[in-house]
Amino acid sequence: MRTFSKDLSNPGRIPVLGMLRAWRLMRQGRLHRYGEASSNALEVRALEEEYAAYMGSKYCVALNSCGCALFIALKTVGVKPGDKVFVNAFTLAPVPGAVAHCGAQPVLIEINEDYLIDLADFRKKAAESEAKVLLLSHMRGHIANLDELVEICEAFGITMVEDCAHTMGARWNGKLTGTFGKVGCFSTQTFKHINSGEGGLLVTDDPDIAAQATLYSGSYMLYGQHGTRPDDEVFAKWKAVTPNFSMRMSNVAAAVLRPQLNRLDFRARWWNRRYKWLAEHLDSIPHLRLPKRDEREGYVASSIQFNLVDLTPEQMKRYQKMCGDRGVFLKWFGNEDAVGFTSSHHNWEYLDKPAELPKTDEIMQGLFDMRIPLSLNRIDANVIAKIMREEMDKLIATL
Ligand SMILES: *Cc1c(COP(=O)(O)O)cnc(C)c1O
Repeated sequence: MRTFSKDLSNPGRIPVLGMLRAWRLMRQGRLHRYGEASSNALEVRALEEEYAAYMGSKYCVALNSCGCALFIALKTVGVKPGDKVFVNAFTLAPVPGAVAHCGAQPVLIEINEDYLIDLADFRKKAAESEAKVLLLSHMRGHIANLDELVEICEAFGITMVEDCAHTMGARWNGKLTGTFGKVGCFSTQTFKHINSGEGGLLVTDDPDIAAQATLYSGSYMLYGQHGTRPDDEVFAKWKAVTPNFSMRMSNVAAAVLRPQLNRLDFRARWWNRRYKWLAEHLDSIPHLRLPKRDEREGYVASSIQFNLVDLTPEQMKRYQKMCGDRGVFLKWFGNEDAVGFTSSHHNWEYLDKPAELPKTDEIMQGLFDMRIPLSLNRIDANVIAKIMREEMDKLIATL
C-alpha cells in the first residue's frame, strides 16, 4: 500500500541573497537594528520601508513576533486592563493571548461553516457588549466580507485591528488585508508566508499609532533611524508616556526576509495552484466538506481546511490515525486537548468565564487542517488525495 513520505512541514530554504546578507551582518556583528554612531545597520529599516510600500501603508514597525504586534496594536488603540475585546472564536492561541497580555478579556464571536466570523453574531454582540475593539483574525487565511465588517464597526464605533498572520499578500476585493482596520499585524514566523524564524510587522496610516508602536517596540529614543515614521512632534507627544517593551525585530531577521518579500506575490500564486489541485480531488471524497470561498476572497492558501461531516468524533479520530499511518498527517481541531498548533476556546482557561459558542463548537469538532508546502507537486497532491479517499472508503466500510 502506498504511503506518502514528503514532510509537509518542511519550510524550504532561505533565498541565497538572504543568507549572504545575514552572513555580512554576522561578520560585522551588527545584529541589533539600531546603530549608535550612525544608522549603519539598515536591514530592519529597509524592510519597514519596503513592506510599507508593498502594503501602500504610511508606516511599518518591525517587531519580534506577530503575537507582540497584536499586543502593541491593542495598546495603541487604547485597550486597557479590564477592557473587553471582540475576537472571532476560530483563531490561534496567540490572539486571545495578546488580549490577555493587555490585561483585557476576549469576547468571542461565533464562526460560520466557512470558518469566517459570523456577522450576525458580531452585530448582536456589538449591540450588547461594551467592547469597542475588534481583533479580527483571518485565521488560516479565510477572509470574511471586509466591506460589511467595516460597516458594522463604523455603525457601532468599533476599532478594528487585523491579525494577518495567514494573509500576508492576500486581498479582499482587490485590497490588501491589513489595510481595512486601523492596524494590520503580520507574522514572519517560520510557518507563515515569509520566514525569519520569529518576527512581526505592524502597518498603519495613523501617525499616533505608528509613534506609539515604535516607542513600545523599544526604540531607545533612536526612532530617528526609522524610515517610515511620523514627525518629531508626534513622537514628542508620546515618548515620555510610552513604556519600552523591547519587542524589536533583529537585523538578521530583516536581512533574510527582504529577498523573500520580493517573491511574495509569485509564491502566492504557487500556493494557490497547489490548493486548487488538492481541493479538486478532496471535494469528491464522501463526508468531506470544503469551505465555500467568495470570489472576492484573494486568498494565499498556504494550508487547506475541511470538515468531516456525519461522522462521530471517534470515527474522525480513527480517520486521522488511518491517514497518519500512511504519511498524511492531518491536524484536527476537534481534539479535547490542544495538540501542536491547534487549540480551541475550551483550552483557554484563563478566560473570565467559559464562552457559549454552540455553532463554533460544532464546526471545530469536525475541522481538519493540512499545510501546503511550496515543494508539493502535482503527483504529491494526487497521492495525498488517493490515500485520503482510500482511507475514507475503508472507514465507511466499517460503519
Ligand atoms: C501564527 C499566528 C499568530 C502569531 O504569530 P507569531 O509570529 O507566531 O506570534 C497569530 N495569529 C494567527 C492566526 C497565527 O496563525
